[in-house]
Amino acid sequence: MNVKEKMYDRIRGVLYGVAVGDCLGAPAEFRDQAEIAARFGEIRDIVPGSVIGARLGCGTDDTAMTLAVAEGIMKCKPGENPVRQIGAEFVRWFCGEPIGLGGTCGRAIEFASKYGRVKSPSLKAWAAASEMTHYQLRGRSGGNGTLMRTAPIALLYTDDAERDNVAYGVSKMTHWDEDAATACVLYCEIISKLIQGQKLEDAVSCLKESKDYNETVTDPQPTGYVKDTFKTALWGWFEHNSFESILINVVNLGGDADTTGAIVGGLAGAEFGYSAIPDRWIEALDGKLKTRLDAAAEAAGKVWGCGT
Ligand SMILES: [Mg+2]
Repeated sequence: MNVKEKMYDRIRGVLYGVAVGDCLGAPAEFRDQAEIAARFGEIRDIVPGSVIGARLGCGTDDTAMTLAVAEGIMKCKPGENPVRQIGAEFVRWFCGEPIGLGGTCGRAIEFASKYGRVKSPSLKAWAAASEMTHYQLRGRSGGNGTLMRTAPIALLYTDDAERDNVAYGVSKMTHWDEDAATACVLYCEIISKLIQGQKLEDAVSCLKESKDYNETVTDPQPTGYVKDTFKTALWGWFEHNSFESILINVVNLGGDADTTGAIVGGLAGAEFGYSAIPDRWIEALDGKLKTRLDAAAEAAGKVWGCGT
C-alpha cells in the first residue's frame, strides 16, 4: 500500500473497528468474566447471546450513535457547527429502535427533543438538556456514552483546533461532565495522528500530559464510567499487539464490553487498519451496516484526499 492507501485503510479500520468491537462485546455486556467463561469459553467470534437483545452483527448504541455522528457531520456545510445535524440523527435513532440506549444519552435526547416531538433540536436545546440531565443524575454524567461515538470526528476534521472543539461540543450534547468531554478530545487526537501515519509513541504523547491517563494501567475496570472505560481500552491496546488479540482480550473482561470493545476497536483500527481486521468478523457484520460504514469512510477519504 502507498501512503494514501494506508491512510484510507486506517480510516476504514477506525469505523469498522468500532462496529466489530461493539458486535464482539455485545454478548459479554452485563456479564462478569466467570459468566463469560462458563457460557462462551472465550469470545473469539461475533456470536449471539446479547442480554439486551441486540441482533447479531448489527451492533448496539455504540455503532448506531457513531454512525449518527458521522452522518450528521456529513450533512453539514463547511464550518457549520454539527450539533444540530448530529442531534437530528440522534433523535431519528431514538424514535426508531434504539437498542442499548444508555441512561444519560436517553435522558438528554428525551429532554432536547421533548420525547421525540422535536426532530431537530437547537444548539440551545441540547445544552439545556445536557445540563438538566447532569443535575437529574446528581452530577454523575461522566459515563462512556460520548467516548463510544466520537471516533468519526477524528476522521472528518483535518484541523486540530476544529476537531478538538467539535469533539468537546458533541460530548457536551448529552454529557455535561468535563471528564467525558476531555476523554473524547484525547481519543480523537490519538486517532487523527494515527491515521496520518504518526508513530504510536508520538500519537499517544497527549496521554502523558493528561492527569488521568498518564500512568500504565494494570488493573482494567470495564465499568460504564468514562475514565474506567478509556483506561481499560488503553490497557487492552498497549498490552497486546494485533487487532485480533486486543479486541479478544478487552471484550472478555465483560462489564460494559460492547463499549470498551467499540472504543479499543477504534484505536486498534487506526493503528493497524481495516486490512488487519479478521475476515470472519467483517463477514459477520450486517450488510446495511457495512454500506453505512463504507459511506462514512468514503466521506472521510474525501476530506483527507485519500481513498476512492
Ligand atoms: Mg452498547
